[in-house]
Amino acid sequence: MPPHVTVKGKIVDQETRCEHYHKQEDIIAIKFYCCDTYYPCYKCHEECADHDIQRWPRDRFDEKAILCGVCKHELTINEYLKSSYTCPNCQSTFNEGCARHYSIYFEG
Ligand SMILES: [Zn+2]
Ligand SMILES: [Zn+2]
Ligand SMILES: [Zn+2]
Repeated sequence: MPPHVTVKGKIVDQETRCEHYHKQEDIIAIKFYCCDTYYPCYKCHEECADHDIQRWPRDRFDEKAILCGVCKHELTINEYLKSSYTCPNCQSTFNEGCARHYSIYFEG
């Protein structure tokens, strides 16, 4: 993990899988706009943070907010949305199912 990066929540391994999502391709953590903190998923945030989620506003999508759990590369939200579910640094495959939850994390 880069020294400035901490991932909170119910992590179960070194690639940021958590109690809720731990399939092979569940390897990203997302930084939450409300607390500037990485969690593996919104359920981790729900169970571990003491406040409601605030979504990333559209004009902040150029900030780094996605962490590849395999190589620890940070992507901006725009980079992630255009990544075709593949890490641009290590080519690991991200879970396409995350797209169903974009509205939880990012303003539509
Ligand atoms: Zn938060
Ligand atoms: Zn989780
Ligand atoms: Zn990677």
